[in-house]
Amino acid sequence: MMKNVLILGATGSVGKNTLDVITRHPDRFRVAGVTAGRRIDDLISICHRHRPDFAVIGPTVDFSAAKSALRAASPRTELLAGEEGLVAAATAPNVDAVMAAIVGSAGLRPTLAAARAGKKVLLANKESLVMSGGLFMQAIAQAGTTLLPIDSEHNAIFQCLPAADGRLSKGVKRILLTGSGGPFRTRSLASLARVTPAEACKHPIWSMGPKISVDSATMMNKALEIIEAHWIFNAGPEQIEVVVHPESVVHSMVEYQDGSVLAQLGNPDMRTPIAHALAYPDRIDAGVAQLDLARIGQLNFEPPDPVRFPALRLAYEVLKASDAAAVTFNAANEIAVQAFLEERLSFVDIVGIVEATLQASQDVTIATV
Ligand code: NAD
Ligand code: MG
Repeated sequence: MMKNVLILGATGSVGKNTLDVITRHPDRFRVAGVTAGRRIDDLISICHRHRPDFAVIGPTVDFSAAKSALRAASPRTELLAGEEGLVAAATAPNVDAVMAAIVGSAGLRPTLAAARAGKKVLLANKESLVMSGGLFMQAIAQAGTTLLPIDSEHNAIFQCLPAADGRLSKGVKRILLTGSGGPFRTRSLASLARVTPAEACKHPIWSMGPKISVDSATMMNKALEIIEAHWIFNAGPEQIEVVVHPESVVHSMVEYQDGSVLAQLGNPDMRTPIAHALAYPDRIDAGVAQLDLARIGQLNFEPPDPVRFPALRLAYEVLKASDAAAVTFNAANEIAVQAFLEERLSFVDIVGIVEATLQASQDVTIATV
């Protein structure tokens, strides 16, 4: 049966990889809607190619200029704008699955709205889960729908877990979350203060958007993923361990009580988890090159360095604190990363600012978004 997919953040790295997989399977998937914050030319050409029912643009974009460009490119596509437009698209009756690939907290409202409307949620936007984990998982359960993780580690864990519902069950001991260690794993600590945004965005393995690239360099990305794993799999902090694995071939592992450890391997290419989630429970071609282990030759693993990567300790502290701590953690990081990208903050101060903000914030219980 044809699946109608809305891509939130269609012009980004995950969004474009999603379009690539969808284009390979016109018999299975239809692009029902696409959204972009600012890169409107990109969005218009995506609309020209895929003729979606609607397109949503950010509130700062000139609406009437975008509308006339869209009319020429894809006359059948309706134009919506801002957060209201995103929520309308995420809850539209003709949408079956929502690829949540907006970066940062801007993705929260439409993604949560999609869950509440019972859409299948393909979740790349980890920040929305970090901010609203309890409410989000409750919304998924109440609507009787499914969340399929796109983050390569969580997708790997999902694939290695026994139960169809993808939650940690009896017999599972731990989750081993792998992380490449980013571009500065072996660089001298003293030189980190001089890191430029361009260097931080140049990941040795993955090609990703600027925010997650900086997060990978500080390992704040792995810290957010610890919290993400906690919510998706219902795992306690003591059940989640991070292992540094520079080759990024083992995408994560699940350890069982009997000593078995199941791993999911693959080339580091986001099209694999995207194709897995899009077609689940079927398996489809993702256009990914075959994994050649003999050529790779060697896979390395090491514990994360707590001095170089203090963000990981903070994630465990956040899990032991209140829900509000996770919101503060995510918000402080988003603002600090933006300041670093605009060269207003040094690389080494990113995590320091997050920690100081956490210490200065108050514990409150979050009951609604
Ligand atoms: P990106 O920067 O390449 O793309 C972000 C998308 O979000 C763009 O389409 C942009 O227009 C849109 N956007 C940004 N701000 C917006 C706003 N305020 N309102 C509406 N739309 C907005 O980011 P990405 O690398 O594709 O990452 C997207 C999400 O997926 C992030 O949460 C990231 O952590 C997660 N993720 C990415 C990868 C990857 O390989 N890139 C892997 C795992 C998880
Ligand atoms: Mg990841």
